[in-house]
Amino acid sequence: MIRTTPVRPTPWDGQPYSIKRHGVTITNCDSEPVQTPGCVQAHGAMLVLRPADLTVLQASENTDRLLGHRADTLLNKSVQVAIGSDGEARLKAFFATEPTDRNPLYAFTLPPRNDVPPLDVTAHTVDGVAVVEFEATGRTEAGEPDYYALVKKTVTRLQSAKTLQQFCDLTSDEFRTLTGLDRVVIYKFHADGHGEVFAESKRADLDPWLGLHYPAGDIPEPAREVFKQIWVRPTPDVAGELAELVPLTNPDTGRPLTMTHCALRGASVMYTEYLENMKVTAGLTMPIRRDGELWGLIACHHYAGPKHVPYQVRAACEFLAQVVSLQYQAAEEREHLVYRLKLDGTHQQLLAQAARDGGLASMTEGRPSLLDGMAAGGAALYHHDRWWRVGTTPSEAQLDALGEWLNDRPEFASPTRPLYATDSLAQQCPPAAAFTDVASGLVAVPLSRLNRNWMLWFRPETIQTVNWGGNPHEKPTVPGPHGPRLTPRRSFELFQESVRGRSLPWLAVELDAVARLRMLVMELVVSRAERLADLNADLTHSNEQLDAFNYVASHDLKEPLRGIHKYAHQLLEDAVIVDQDHRRKLSGLMRLALRMDSLLDSLLHFSRVGRVALVTEWTDLNEVVAESIEMVDARRSEGPPEIVVPRPLPHALCDRVWCREIFVNLLSNALKYNDKPQKRVEVGFIAPDEDHSRSGCPEGSAGHTIYYMRDNGIGIPARHFEQIFKMFKRLHGRDDYGGGTGAGLTIVQKLIERHHGRVWLDSTVAEGTTFYFTLQGRVGT
Ligand code: ADP
Repeated sequence: MIRTTPVRPTPWDGQPYSIKRHGVTITNCDSEPVQTPGCVQAHGAMLVLRPADLTVLQASENTDRLLGHRADTLLNKSVQVAIGSDGEARLKAFFATEPTDRNPLYAFTLPPRNDVPPLDVTAHTVDGVAVVEFEATGRTEAGEPDYYALVKKTVTRLQSAKTLQQFCDLTSDEFRTLTGLDRVVIYKFHADGHGEVFAESKRADLDPWLGLHYPAGDIPEPAREVFKQIWVRPTPDVAGELAELVPLTNPDTGRPLTMTHCALRGASVMYTEYLENMKVTAGLTMPIRRDGELWGLIACHHYAGPKHVPYQVRAACEFLAQVVSLQYQAAEEREHLVYRLKLDGTHQQLLAQAARDGGLASMTEGRPSLLDGMAAGGAALYHHDRWWRVGTTPSEAQLDALGEWLNDRPEFASPTRPLYATDSLAQQCPPAAAFTDVASGLVAVPLSRLNRNWMLWFRPETIQTVNWGGNPHEKPTVPGPHGPRLTPRRSFELFQESVRGRSLPWLAVELDAVARLRMLVMELVVSRAERLADLNADLTHSNEQLDAFNYVASHDLKEPLRGIHKYAHQLLEDAVIVDQDHRRKLSGLMRLALRMDSLLDSLLHFSRVGRVALVTEWTDLNEVVAESIEMVDARRSEGPPEIVVPRPLPHALCDRVWCREIFVNLLSNALKYNDKPQKRVEVGFIAPDEDHSRSGCPEGSAGHTIYYMRDNGIGIPARHFEQIFKMFKRLHGRDDYGGGTGAGLTIVQKLIERHHGRVWLDSTVAEGTTFYFTLQGRVGT
């Protein structure tokens, strides 16, 4: 991505850019159009052709020296004028057969003419034009070395490297041998973009740069972008001249030429000044890429004047840079193989444990934990609306704030690898400055997309001494034609700085392991959810079957029962049986049949409660309670109870009729199981934003209105709290406290569950009982 900094207009606004004309007016490296510099390095020449007929559209202003014709005399002419008919024929054949799009390839060598040496011709196409570059071959009489054999040997040597350091050391040596330049350094980019010289091969008399760090600004963003697209960048003569294209823009399109892939692309003034300040006279740079990202650079510098690296050598370097990029990843993986295996092994155990224990909580509380295996100070998991922590972590409040901040990180938009890692958290998240001692380093992965659940690892601050090549905070400016401008650094003296608020960096192997763990955890969560859904479906099915059975059984049993009752009654009526004992037994039979009949009625009613469709609507519970009081009052035979509703009840989404049955059942129990001279019942509610903790509410009721019915009755011993909801369970003799079938609370519970609510109670024997419930009715349930 090219960083856009449209702060103020550039001095070349409205006209095509040319380094020669505008280079020194640049005030901000990141605004320089490095891909369309308008100029080539003058050791070579360039022609821009119309592909259809190979007519010259643009020519570098130095063609007279290399091709024997002034640029303006070539325009609109066939390329044949410049390179002869043989050259034209070769070029035609080349474009017809080779894959040239954004891919400069060697076409042929133009034989020497007059005092011009033989020229290597490379060509490619871009944005609808053909670009032809001419450079001296640099070949000597002695003939060409066998580059294929050279590169093959190099690759074999690189494969023998045991560690990453060894691999990079070998790489720098091999590139120095291949190019013959004085110094080759391997730059490694850190997470914040600054570079470190990770390996070096140099002429013995040069000062070592190994271990030095360079600020991110030394290699500006546009230059880094270019290195994601090309494999080699030659600057054979840092102090060399530039040759402008004539005309500066394509006469067919009015557009400047994209020179990203041109070997001759003119180098930015800032870049050449920078190299000159380092006393570098020639350079060649190749990228090291990992998964398409720029991991580092192989920078070759020369100090003894211009050094032209011919096309054939550059092609070998290009090939080698690609091999290095691939092998680098392999070398890194080899180096961390043991660590990687250990991390993966621990994570597998972690998952097996979580699967066994049925929850992610064991990942912080069990052995192993999230922290095991990882070289981190602490880890935290946000799951089920709370933090689970292990090791040294920020406080819960700090974690809450961090979670909020993480929510907005763009990294989590990635569909393939949503992962955020930093070794200097406080720089990006200023509140984290309060806990750098615990979490200067952070790795975060989300476990879900919607309600962000996190897995986090923390690394403490490690105060490090960084050896900078020059003071990175110095930003020298010089007066320019358009005001003061930033100049490249001049001092490369060792500058030591102790860096605070930074942890040891996270290794790629650690981040890969975290990304893999995330996938495993998500799979586990999904499979658990699927299993729960299956269980729920099974449960619903068996509940339905049970209700159906209840209905059939109770319905069919009532018929023979009526027969038994009828015959017992007839026997008694007929007076055939005179024996008092027999008559007593017959009366008992009739009584039992009646009792069984009422039990069957309760069962029938219960099965109906399970099967009917609820009609949910917004219902005024004050009306429902008033109706319930009336219905219960009608059955009451004793003195008037005190029924209090301390504040108006809210509206609820529920089935009005069945909801009334809930209140009727609870209210009649509250009055029935009460031996106080003045019976008192309170019907009230706790709003969602009020304190739910005092009602001992179960999981899942948070955020809902809790209704309650409190009485001053006989109370229920805690050991019976669960039993009283069982079918036909009574705590008293059959006819005590007005009798009953023991089905009331079972039906209440069923009705509340059908409203997706819960019911629970609190009670003190001899003082009274409070039943609580929620109604989480949904429209259409
Ligand atoms: P029933 O009232 O028909 O016995 P319930 O299912 O309504 O059946 O109640 C089950 C048992 O729970 C009752 O027998 C009683 O022992 C106890 N119970 C219910 N409500 C209360 C209450 N408010 N106070 C004391 N005990 C109660």
